[in-house]
Amino acid sequence: MLPITFLMSEANMPERIAFNDLAAQRRYLGQAVDEAIRSVVDHSMYVMGPEVARFERDLSAFCGAKHAISCGSGTDALSLVLLAKNVKAGDAVLCPSFTFAATAEAIAGLGATPVFVDVSEDSFNLDATSLVSSISMLKRSGAKPVGIIAVDLFGQPADYNDIEEIAAREGLWLVCDAAQAFGASYKGRQVGSIGLATTTSFFPAKPLGCYGDGGAVFTNDDELANTILSLRMHGRGTDNYDNVRIGMNSRLDTIQAAVLIEKLKIFPDEIAARNRIAKRYNEQLRDCATVPSIREGATSVWAQYTLRLPRCDRGAFQTSLAAVDVPTAVYYRTPMHRQAAYRHFPTAPKGLPASDRLAAEVVSLPMHAYLSEEVQDQITAAVRSALAPCRR
Ligand SMILES: *Cc1c(COP(=O)(O)O)cnc(C)c1O
Repeated sequence: MLPITFLMSEANMPERIAFNDLAAQRRYLGQAVDEAIRSVVDHSMYVMGPEVARFERDLSAFCGAKHAISCGSGTDALSLVLLAKNVKAGDAVLCPSFTFAATAEAIAGLGATPVFVDVSEDSFNLDATSLVSSISMLKRSGAKPVGIIAVDLFGQPADYNDIEEIAAREGLWLVCDAAQAFGASYKGRQVGSIGLATTTSFFPAKPLGCYGDGGAVFTNDDELANTILSLRMHGRGTDNYDNVRIGMNSRLDTIQAAVLIEKLKIFPDEIAARNRIAKRYNEQLRDCATVPSIREGATSVWAQYTLRLPRCDRGAFQTSLAAVDVPTAVYYRTPMHRQAAYRHFPTAPKGLPASDRLAAEVVSLPMHAYLSEEVQDQITAAVRSALAPCRR
């Protein structure tokens, strides 16, 4: 557990409430990260230095995946898996509409077709019924579904029991986009060990973030792992100047690996702190808003703490919180099936009513491991008073 003395110390008193307080984390880490960066600068192996392999071993040990392969970003991690699966024009890949653009971008970027499926209103994650009807629709129309990318939105794993069964029955591969959920678990299985492969992101604002861009792929499949190792280095064969396939340049910088080695050490404590904070938010807000719910058997890393505000003017709510310096954010205002670049792609046959409703109703509150109870009480008091007009 992060020591309460730090959370209450002068050093952790922000001038303004932060949505995600990376500066507090940096103060808590003290000299460790500075020294780790310094040591990379001293040895100068900036690309594929020894810290990269060390961090990959730490990641494997953390989540139990046989292979952890670091790369340039969470988006690249998805692209690497899809490239390894030879996804190409004419292939259809199912994914949720209520997600960050990268999920669908990785599919469309290879010339394949993202097919937008609806989500469940209480978990924000892929809805099994909508998934099944979308697959039937594709098969009826003669399209060629090849796989599913499930997203673990806001830190909670998708409903993998159902999704795995559907994928197996339909002969589709399953990739888990865990950019927001590394460190979470589903029915005793750690995120990273589910599906054909799992991808994550180390973008600074993610639960496990570095000091720039970074990502990783996890898999237990040796052949897939070997293909991805080759793909991230321009499709290398026996050496760097032997090219056996068309690949990418996507590596995790050694400096980022060094930062992440230090951050992974405190990550379990940070996850515990995030869960403690989410529980307090739930207790203090349950009676006045729709608080997020975690499925039985799942744990979350709370990448976001997201309320639903049905029957409420969300803009006015955000404005009244901003007036008392409480930052909020909306993830996501426009679901993918309504985005200019993506709206021509197919959607679930019955439409995506839950995705549309969530896009209109969700709002996220400040969430990070360094939020003190005092500041949190200030936030919930402000939320309660901003919601008063909606409850009349
Ligand atoms: C952040 C994110 C990504 C992309 O990660 P980057 O490291 O920013 O490329 C992919 N999928 C989801 C759901 C994300 O939240």
